[in-house]
Amino acid sequence: MHCGFHITHGGAILPDCIFCKIIAGEIPSQRVYEDEHVFAFRDIAPQAPVHILVVPKEHIASAAELKPENSHIAAKCLEITAQLAKSEGLGGGFRVITNSGPDGGQTVFHLHFHLLGGRPLGAGLINNG
Ligand code: AMP
Repeated sequence: MHCGFHITHGGAILPDCIFCKIIAGEIPSQRVYEDEHVFAFRDIAPQAPVHILVVPKEHIASAAELKPENSHIAAKCLEITAQLAKSEGLGGGFRVITNSGPDGGQTVFHLHFHLLGGRPLGAGLINNG
């Protein structure tokens, strides 16, 4: 099931989940891939020449919610991420990131993997902000 519930974040009540709406086609997106379980689209504020969000269709709030029953969905997302890296020409390398929770910098509470590439990204893991 996609998210039909409200999510509390920083005191704000979000009326619905933006990524569930994108998957449902209620909000437009630049879709690059879709199958039964996975949806991928270009990030609206790209941080690199290629910046794609790979998202499970099932609403899972974050990586913190992964467990034996649903971890195969995350594995499928990573498999598609590798496929997209090839089709986007990222043979020189790429980065995959998932932010989890407020301290992890997550802003949309529907699990997603950022696929970033198209330029040298450097060796750093975090941007101390
Ligand atoms: P995070 O901060 O890790 O939760 O990532 C959320 C990402 O979603 C950010 O990189 C945003 O730029 C991206 N984003 C938010 N709204 C949209 C949208 N409507 N279409 C595409 N990307 C979006």
